[in-house]
This record gives sequence, C-alpha cells and structure tokens, in this order.
Amino acid sequence: MSAEISGFRRFIHWGPITALSIIKCITLTTLYMNSMWWPPNESFAGFAHQALFLMLSTLATFNYVMATLTGPGLLPRQWQPKEPKDTEYLQYCKACEGYKAPRSHHCRKCNRCVKKMDHHCPWINHCVGWANHAYFSYFLLFSILGSMQATVVLCGSFYRGIYRYYYLTHGLVHLASVQFTVYSIIMCITGMGLAIGVVIGLGMLLFIQLKTIVANQTGIEIWIVEKAIYRRYAIGESEDSFIYPYDLGWWLNLKQVFNDECQKLGDGIDWPVLKGCDQYTLTREQLAQKEEKRARTRTYKCHSPVTGRWLPVCSQGWSVCMGAPCTDEPRIRLQPGDIIKVTRFRKHWLFGERELTKQELGADKTHRRKGHIRGWFPRRSAVEVIEVHECGGEPGSDNLPENGTCNGGHAQLRQQQRNGHAKKYM
Ligand SMILES: [Zn+2]
Ligand SMILES: [Zn+2]
Repeated sequence: MSAEISGFRRFIHWGPITALSIIKCITLTTLYMNSMWWPPNESFAGFAHQALFLMLSTLATFNYVMATLTGPGLLPRQWQPKEPKDTEYLQYCKACEGYKAPRSHHCRKCNRCVKKMDHHCPWINHCVGWANHAYFSYFLLFSILGSMQATVVLCGSFYRGIYRYYYLTHGLVHLASVQFTVYSIIMCITGMGLAIGVVIGLGMLLFIQLKTIVANQTGIEIWIVEKAIYRRYAIGESEDSFIYPYDLGWWLNLKQVFNDECQKLGDGIDWPVLKGCDQYTLTREQLAQKEEKRARTRTYKCHSPVTGRWLPVCSQGWSVCMGAPCTDEPRIRLQPGDIIKVTRFRKHWLFGERELTKQELGADKTHRRKGHIRGWFPRRSAVEVIEVHECGGEPGSDNLPENGTCNGGHAQLRQQQRNGHAKKYM
C-alpha cells in the first residue's frame, strides 16, 4: 500500500519509470532519425518541424510530471462537514476515520479519500481526480499529438533507410539521407511500435476522459447513476425520476476542468448543482444503494485457512483457480473461525469483508493482521451462517409462538454449506 507517498518519491514505481522511459525513447529516436530525414539545420521548415515536435514532447512530459506531483486532491483525514447534522447524508470512511465528502471516494492504493475520484492510474502512480484532471487530460492530448508526429518521422525514415541502396544506384542521391546501423534500425522499429501503441492506447483513454469531463460524471459516478436508474426501474418508477446533480451542460462542465489558468476550481468539496438538487443529492442515493447492498449481505464463517493467493492451485485445486474472478480486486487471507460479511457471489469465489477480531479492534494496532480485509476468497473455505430459533424456522418465519418469543428460545447458529447453486449479484 503506497500510503502517504509525497513529491518525487511517487516516481519510484514501475508505472512512472515505464511511462517516462517510453516518452524519452520515442523522443530521442525521433530526434535522431529526423536529423537525417528532415534536417532542422538545412531549412526553416525543417527547423519548425523539429521545434514543434520538441514542444509537444516537452508539454507531454511537463503535464505528466504535474499530474503526478499535484495529485488528485486528498480529503483531509477525519474530515467532517461544516454542519454536523449533514453527516447523516454521508458515508463514513473507517480507514480515514472521517466522512466522505460528496464525490469523494476512498482509494485503496493511495489509502486515502480522494476528491472527485475518477480512477487510480498506475502510470502516474496516483489517482486522477479534482486537482489533476486537467493536467492528466493535457498529458494524454500532447502525448498523442507528439506520437502521431513521431510515427510519421519514423515511418518516413524507415522507408528511406531501407531503400538507401536503391536511391544510390538510381541517381537519387538527395533521397539517400537516412543511413541505418544495426542499433539505429532496432531503435527505429521499437520507436515506431511504441509511438503507434501510444496513439491507439492513449487515444482510447483520452476519448473516455473527454466523455467523463463533458458529462461531468467520473468513472465511479457512471456506476452510481446506472445503479440509481436500475433501482428505480426495478421498483416501477420512471427512470427519469433520478436527476444527476452535477451535469450543468457540456460547456460549463468543460470549463470546470479546463479554464484559462489550468487551475482547479473551488475546493473539491462543494460543487455547483442543478436546480432542485442539493450538495447531498448523490450521497443520499449512494447511502440508499449501500443499504440495499447491506440487505443482501450474508454472513459466512471460515473453516479452513485461505492463503490470499491469486491462484491457490495447491490449497484449492484447479476448478477454483479456473473460476477466479477477472478483476484486480484484492484476495483476502483467512483463518478458521473468521467471520466474513459477503456481498458478491460467484460459483467458486465470494467477495466480502472480514470482521476484525476483538484483539484487532483493541487500541494496540500491532495486533492487526497484515493484508486486506475486503476482497475475494474461495467459496469452499467457508460456510454460510444462518440464525435459527430452537422452536424451528428461520428468523422472519411464521413459526413463532403467539407471544412472539421462543420458549427458552435462544438463537443458535446453524451452519449450512451452500455449494454449487450460486446466485450472481453485483
Ligand atoms: Zn478514506
Ligand atoms: Zn489512488
């Protein structure tokens, strides 16, 4: 967990090291090839062409570094709204020991609540959110433009380089300007591959980002709105009865991220909202969705140790590994006796949160077990715990005596293993 990493230490990670290496590899290879293909010292057009490329490369690097250094804007720990009564509309974050401001979400990787969180980007080793959304989008834009220019230069040089012998023997000496060595041809081909990859990969990412910005709806909020519409559809209400409060129209939405000074607007906590909505319109919906999720939560008890590995071939066998969920969400380690609140169900895997033991809940944090408490684990290592009454029947059944209590009816726990009839809930 990369908690509280600040400043340039964010760059000591495979993501930024790889991203900066790719930018530098494309830039240096293109400059080297361009010096033969369209020398900047022989014509003004050549000079302007190279100057444009250098500008794009510098802007891409600058915005990349700024996106990482600025960060998304972290919500202060133990944050509270100004009006104490407003806490009833907000979710509580146990990790940050404070309330989550509207549009804030807890990032597992940063281990902090992030203002207007969009997603955690491993390439900048930080989240993309309120404060760095503009820098991140400009980084994508300039990288794509620079890589498009690099693709033209490298493909042009490659073509001239491999036809050099033809040019020399056919009286076209002025075209035989690109001369390859073993190393430079390898660099040229690598650079071409990387530049085309950047144009395609970051192009798709920029498209998604622009959609997010124009609708003023982050990747996480798209999910919340989808669930909000589905909830209303499921209970027979009109889908239009939910109004997303932050969509002010595409122009005002764009201006919230891109403005004259490229500076973040506001404090990342209070947001302009549509008429008829308030600051807590979306958080109330989130709480209602959480309540529904709680209603379908089931309790499981672990009976055999779980290693927390992604593919537990030795302990669980092939069928469990083959049915592993395709997500980068964590896997949890369990010990016999652990209680887990399960919210998502697959045939061989369950997703839930492990209840902390009494020891772990104590003031001494050294008793805390390492690793995640929320994540996936193999279904066969746990059994469902169902509360039943001695007088028969499960809670809510009609078998209670008339006075509504069981005679000597202390609840006992019955454990029931439910295999092979999984329902899929999201
Ligand atoms: Zn948090
Ligand atoms: Zn993050």
